[in-house]
Amino acid sequence: MKTLKDINFKNKKALVRVDFNVPLNDDFKVTDNTRILAAKPTIEKILNDGGSVILMSHLGRPKGKEDKFSLKHILPELEKVLGHKIIFVSDSIGPEVKKAVKNLKPGEILLLENLRFYPEEKKGDENFAKALADLGADYYINDAFGTAHRAHASTAVIAKYFDKNHKAAGNLLEKEVVSIQKALDEGQKPVTAIIGGAKVSSKIGVIENLLNKVDNLIIVGGMAYTFLKALGNKIGDSIVEDDKIDLAKKILAEAKAKGVNVILPVDLVVADRFSNDAETKIVSIDNIPDGWQGLDIGPKTRQLIDEVIQNSKTIIWNGPAGVFEFDKFATGTENIGLAIGKASEKGAYSLVGGGDSVAAVKKLNLTDKISYISTGGGALLEMLEGKTLPGIAALTE
Ligand code: AMP
Repeated sequence: MKTLKDINFKNKKALVRVDFNVPLNDDFKVTDNTRILAAKPTIEKILNDGGSVILMSHLGRPKGKEDKFSLKHILPELEKVLGHKIIFVSDSIGPEVKKAVKNLKPGEILLLENLRFYPEEKKGDENFAKALADLGADYYINDAFGTAHRAHASTAVIAKYFDKNHKAAGNLLEKEVVSIQKALDEGQKPVTAIIGGAKVSSKIGVIENLLNKVDNLIIVGGMAYTFLKALGNKIGDSIVEDDKIDLAKKILAEAKAKGVNVILPVDLVVADRFSNDAETKIVSIDNIPDGWQGLDIGPKTRQLIDEVIQNSKTIIWNGPAGVFEFDKFATGTENIGLAIGKASEKGAYSLVGGGDSVAAVKKLNLTDKISYISTGGGALLEMLEGKTLPGIAALTE
């Protein structure tokens, strides 16, 4: 796979797929510019070479051309972050866009309208992909890691209209792939993965792949209760997937056979209802009262996890340890963030990804301590599953 350092963009036009799917408030102002910041190095490299940049992205889930999903809303923030004027066209294909591309001079940036105004984008429509490829750019660059697991027109299909020497991974995409590989395939031992979140069903592939990669697998969050029940515990009203109990048993047996140390909660914060105002108590896992539900890991579990993390050289974390949205049940998740921050300071390599885990790390001001914070949700999970993402495969085909 080619990367940006293989290309000199002098007097060339690069069509760059970015992920500017940023959150907007009611006044259409960008409330989190992380994704724009993440695309900056790629844009700057092309401009510094003396090239010009055509940016294309999706924003939200529009049903047709809905003004509230127009990328024009992000222009002020984009200009601020890049410190550069942006030319905007209110379409993503067609004669008006072709003309704007033709007129684009070295050092200029053009932003196209939301790709998902065309339903063809998500369908991976060949004609739409070809229309994008025919806009007049010399190179196709994919820097949208967040959508690299989708075989959409602009993320994968378009790549076939550019030969091997005229397509490449952007800076962010490259950094994501290298960082994930570093943790997953080249990690110094002991390697520890902490997997949390609501349901085991959404992370089965991840857990199964991790069993071949890690020394310690820490399972927390809602999904832990399916494992705890599989081991014969009474779990009260805690979240559980009864149809995955056999699978949980199979995973535990597989882990044993592979010599992977599985760490499950030993104590919990249980609540009498699913609310931040619930009555709570700390109980061991064999003592969950009927009618109560586990909404966070308990202090003994926090300590156990901290010890494992401090003894690890490589740490991968995805998913909260409890109902992190309620302050009362955020302690376990925050403690995992703090433990990873501490281990990273001592030299461990840490990779954190997924909305809730990243939010915890940001809230605790740990972003500088973590070795790499992934910008991908679904894309990261698919990488952790060991899958080749269509957006990445398309750059090498
Ligand atoms: P995921 O999107 O799979 O990473 O799951 C994240 C969600 O899991 C968050 O919204 C948490 O509130 C939820 N969650 C974590 N622990 C629990 C739990 N013990 N009971 C119910 N939901 C949980």
